[in-house]
Order: sequence, then structure tokens, then C-alpha cells
Amino acid sequence: MTRVVLASNNPGKLKEFSASLAAAGIDMVPQGALGVPEAEEPFGTFVENALAKARHASRLTGLPALADDSGLCVHALGGAPGVHSARYAQGPGDARSDTANNARLVADMTRHADRRGCYVAVLVYLRSADDPRPIVVEGVWDGEVLDHPQGGNGFGYDPYFYLPDLGMTAAELPLAQKNLLSHRARALRALLQALRSEYPAQH
Ligand code: IMP
Repeated sequence: MTRVVLASNNPGKLKEFSASLAAAGIDMVPQGALGVPEAEEPFGTFVENALAKARHASRLTGLPALADDSGLCVHALGGAPGVHSARYAQGPGDARSDTANNARLVADMTRHADRRGCYVAVLVYLRSADDPRPIVVEGVWDGEVLDHPQGGNGFGYDPYFYLPDLGMTAAELPLAQKNLLSHRARALRALLQALRSEYPAQH
């Protein structure tokens, strides 16, 4: 097994990423277990933030690193909330709040007829901190933004993220189904594909 540091301490992500990447012979270790503090995410694009997080974790541990960055991009809002998805409605001193983020999204969308949006997840895999050729993959999950919530599963923008093909929101999907269809699942499948050619001996 190849030990890889995950540049996140989110237990849900650790579980989802470990389960998927075990098939590529990868043993994921969360960065907190190796004493790595959170990296800054100052950039305007998902790929730049994911790269910064992966490089930080790899630099401090000497291990290959995997990082992700994700969010909701709404066409009529020029891609917002984008990299600011987690803190879209957060003012100075405010706690992060999904409820406040959703309220801002609904308000921003009031006069827009074009409701199209997508969840995006970018994954960056670095073989070393100075890897000149990071593996970069993106998963996109298309949907539409509702003006009222539907469903109690999921998190974040899920109650407002409607999937026309399924006739329900991401918050109405059972978690197991969301984990097969989501932007993260799509990105993980692309990463697994790329890593299979990276570590062919393990298959
Ligand atoms: P992070 O990449 O885990 O920091 O996620 C950034 C933010 O994007 C989250 O806090 C949510 O607001 C939003 N987001 C990312 N993925 C999802 C999802 O699957 N459902 C709902 N919101 C999401």
C-alpha cells in the first residue's frame, strides 16, 4: 500500500476517499494525524486552493498528498458562490452557517430565470511537494437552484439543489445514492482511473 496524506480532517471525506482509493493500493492518512495544520485557501479557483492544500501537506510530511476543493457554481451568478461556498453569507465574526448561505443564495437568485448550477469537486494528487506534474481531476454534477428547500438529507446547499433527471433535490436522495452520483464521486472515479496507470503493479 502507498501511504498518502489527505489534506483534510473531515471524517466523512476520509471515509469516502479511503474506500474509493483502497482499490488503487492507497492508504489514506488524515493530515491532522500527522500534525499538519490547516493550509490557507486564498485563491479564486478550486484547482489553486486544492493544489495549495496538497503541497502544504506533502511538504510537511514528505508523503504524496491528496487534496480536494469543492463548491456550488451558479451560471446566473457568474459561478458564485464558487470557492466561497462554505462562507458565502459569513460576515466578520459570524459563524459559518448553511442556513445563512442558503438564504443568501435564494435572495441572489430572486430575479434570475436561469436556475442552472453545478456542484464542482477538484482533486489534486501530488507525488511530492515539488511534483511538476500533479494529477488534477474535476467532477461536475449539474442541477438547478430552487427557491424553497426540499428534503432533509445531505448538507450545505443540498435542499436547494434540484436534479431534473431524478425529480428531486440532493437532500431527498439517500446518502448511498448521493455518494454514487455526486461531484466528489465523479472526481474520485476519474482519479482512480489516473492512479491505475500510475501504479499498474498493484492491479
Ligand atoms: P469543502 O470543499 O468541503 O470545503 O466544501 C465547500 C462548500 O461547498 C461546503 O461547505 C458546501 O457549502 C459546499 N458543498 C460542497 N459539496 C457539497 C455537497 O455535496 N452538498 C452541499 N454543499 C456542498
